Formats: sequence, structure tokens, C-alpha cells
Amino acid sequence: MTIENKEDIKKSRMYARQQLIDGWDQDIVSKGCIMIIGVGALGCEIAKDFALMGIGKIVLVDLDTIETSNLSRQMLFKPGDEGRPKAEVAAERLIDLNPFLKVDFYFEKLQKLPMAVYEECDVVIAALDNFNARLDLNKICLRMKKPMVEGGTVGFEGHVQVVIPKDSKLEYKNRENEIEKIVETRMWEFDNPEYLEAQKEIEQLEYLIVRLKQEKLEPFRRLVRKQVEEEFDKKYAEDVINITPCYRCLVPIPPADDKLVAACTLKGLPRNRNHCVIKAEVIFEKDYGFKPDMNVDDDVVKLKALAQKELEDLRGRVFNENVSEESLETLTPKEIAEWKENIKDTFGEDYKFEEMENILGNKIAAIQSVSSIISSIQSQEALKLLFRLRGRNIGPPMDPPYINYNGVYGQFDQLDIIKREDCLACGNIEGEENVQLVVPFDADIGYIFKAMRIIDHALEPILWMITNPINKEMYWNPYMSGEFKDPTIKLTKLKIKNNDILTLTPLGKAKVESEIKKYNVIITFM
Ligand SMILES: [Zn+2]
Repeated sequence: MTIENKEDIKKSRMYARQQLIDGWDQDIVSKGCIMIIGVGALGCEIAKDFALMGIGKIVLVDLDTIETSNLSRQMLFKPGDEGRPKAEVAAERLIDLNPFLKVDFYFEKLQKLPMAVYEECDVVIAALDNFNARLDLNKICLRMKKPMVEGGTVGFEGHVQVVIPKDSKLEYKNRENEIEKIVETRMWEFDNPEYLEAQKEIEQLEYLIVRLKQEKLEPFRRLVRKQVEEEFDKKYAEDVINITPCYRCLVPIPPADDKLVAACTLKGLPRNRNHCVIKAEVIFEKDYGFKPDMNVDDDVVKLKALAQKELEDLRGRVFNENVSEESLETLTPKEIAEWKENIKDTFGEDYKFEEMENILGNKIAAIQSVSSIISSIQSQEALKLLFRLRGRNIGPPMDPPYINYNGVYGQFDQLDIIKREDCLACGNIEGEENVQLVVPFDADIGYIFKAMRIIDHALEPILWMITNPINKEMYWNPYMSGEFKDPTIKLTKLKIKNNDILTLTPLGKAKVESEIKKYNVIITFM
């Protein structure tokens, strides 16, 4: 392998997780250039974010040197850096973080930079600490037609402003929405009597609503409120005031265990790209006696070949399922080729090793920019709780206790989540557990106990009963004989369908010894 090749693989590995994000294109990022003016608390964070995400080039501008007081926030600097230019030190540390990055730095006033420096970059980020510098930078960006993202913080508050100048070639507003807005205003200007009359009527109705609320509802509300106040402390306060829903309240049924999916895949036929890779891993382990190590290039190559074979088999199976032998005789070679091309499109191109790694590790898409926003919110909430525990108040914990940040739209939403009375973790139900079991299509009753063992709930089949809580059917009862005691009866024969819920209850000594008195098992066929 050439050195160039090895570097490419390393680079590809670095960015594997963000490649999972829909619409992500590492190429765009790698060719991009970001200019950061001000390498303080915000500048360090932002530069670090882009370095980690694999930007092609960062231009740093700062005319300050590092002071000891900077070390509490500006994470690219460390003790001993005092007195050195911020831009220069930051450039060194960013290269440590990402050796593929190019960094230019200027220990200079932003107003004195040659315009060519601005010209080169795609986006300018203002991370400054004073108004005048911001005003000057704003002017430069408008003149150079460069978009600017301005930000600042004061104590616990912060702002971000996006500035898009004329002729920057960026699309910003939605044409349709803008047209609608103008239509709304123009309707007023037209002096159309019918429109004005209707608006007037709406106003009167709104006034009527307000009056009805005040005169009829309010006195009654006050009366009820007095009652509630009298009984609140005794009846509600304990449950309502100082408790939030727990994590399990939101996840009543945990998603099926990977180990189970893997075990099941070996038995069943892969139905999608992910299954092919999982099956390839199982075959690899069987053939070579160990699990493939995604850091070993040799293993990656072997695994890729196995996965590729599964993928081709899958394409072949789907072709045979869709094109019967009779129709094969009537189809033209062109039509057959079209079928095959179509199927190839559906199941995707050849595997890249980072995709296989993402599938096998069951990885979740992640990106530094969003990570730092979310981690910062976590830190802020933890900080408030810490103070609160020590009897000090720097603000209440967030209420509702759940915040969703949408980085696509730049929107924060606080969501009211509900504490489930039947929550298995914080509710009043003791000794119950919900699980999801993934089973192959030809699974039998015995497989349920096998699957339970795989997800670390080993149950003695002779001490548990399986029933359907909806139609009260009995599927397994070791105390009875005949069909209720046949572990080889197929689930499909028992008319158990996808997403049916079965109940497992203990018998005999398990009734006493098992901490869990009831399993609700959701069956998912694969
Ligand atoms: Zn809960």
C-alpha cells in the first residue's frame, strides 16, 4: 500500500461518523475555508469544531497575546503559553488535533489584513469582544460579499446573528413565504369593503371572547383556585413539584438487542444492506476464529469480500422473487438488465469500510458542532443543579425538563414530557419488564427462551408460562401436556403475528425467586 493510500484510509476513518449524517459531504467540508476573527473563548471552540469536522482551511486573526486569565475558557491554550500570540498558538494546537488541516494565522488587526485574505474564505466568523471591531468587520464583509456569523456571550447569555450580504450568491429566504407576507399587507391597502367588514367582525368576536372570559369564567376560576390552594400542599405538591419523568418514561420498550439481531441474522436471510454486513461478520468469526478488527486493514478487506458476496446473493434473491421463470422467457435482455440495475440501486453500491464499521458498531450519526451545543447545555444544567444542591440559586433547572435543538432550522423546542404512571423504572409497577424480541420467521416457542437468554434474561422453560394477554390464549405451560408443552411449535403456526405482545409469567419456585413477576414481550419477525 502506498503512503498516499494509507493517509486516505486514515482520513476516511476520522470522519466516518459524520458521514452517516443525511446530506453530509466530506468533500465540501474538506475544500472549505473558514475565517475566524478573534481567537478567544468562542474562537477557540469554533476553530476546534471545524478542525475536528475536517475543514480544509482555517484562517485565524487575533492581535492579542495569551494571558493567564484566558486559560479558564480558551481551550486551545495551556499554562506556559502566556505571552505568545493567540492566533499562532491556536494554529499549532489545531494541527495537533487534525494533521490534515491547513491553518493560516495573522497576529494583526482585522482592518489591516489584505483583502485577498477575506476573498479566499467562504464564511467569516466574528468571535470578537468589542463593538468597534465588530462594526469594522461587518463593513468589510458587506463590501467583500462574504456571509458573516457573529456571536457573543455575556455571562449566561449569548447571541448568534447570521449576516448575509447582497450578492453573496447565498439563498436565504423562501420565495413562497415572502410572497404570502406581501399579500397579507396588500389586502389591507386595497380598501375592499368586504374584507374590511370581515376583519371588523372578527375583532368584535375577539372582544366578545375576552369579555365572556372576564365576566363568566374568571369569578368561577377564582373560586376553584381557592379550593386547590387549600389542598395543594397536602394532596399534590409532593408528586408534582420536585420530580421529573425519568429516562425510562420516554423509552417504555427498549429497542431490540444487537446480539439478538445478529443471532437471528445468521439463521435468517439478509433483507437489507445492514443485515449483509452483520451476517458477514458472523461468517468471518466462524471462518477465522475471531471477530474482525476494523483497525486491521487485512480484516477489513476480508470482511468486505464476505459482505459483498451476501449483498450479491441478496440482489439475486430479490431478482428471483420479482421475476418468475415464465416471465424470464418473455422479457427482453434490455428489460432484464433494467430489473437488475433497479435492484442494484435499491440495495446500494459496494461497501466502504467506514460504512461496515458504522453498521457493526451500531454507531449513531454525530457531528462536533451539534455535540458542543448540546454538551454546553448539559454543563449549564448540571451547574445549576450543583449550586442548588449546595443551597445556592443561579437559576432553576429547565422546565419542561427536555429541550430539543434542531440544528437544521436553528430552533430550540422545549418539550413537555409525561411521567408515566406505569413506568417500569419510576412508576408504581414493581417486578414487570418490557422487552422486544427479534426472531426469525421460522422461530418456535423454544426460541423465545433462547432469545431471552441472549438478552441476559435466562429463564428456566419449566418454570415459566407463555400466554397472549389479549385473546388469553396459552402457548406454553410446562405443567400441562401435549401442545402446550411442545417447544418445537412454530410461532407462525400459533398465529403469532409481527408486533404481538406475549406475557411470560413465573410458575412454582420461580414465582417466589424471580424478581420479575411478568415479562411483556413484543415479537418482531426478521
Ligand atoms: Zn419513569
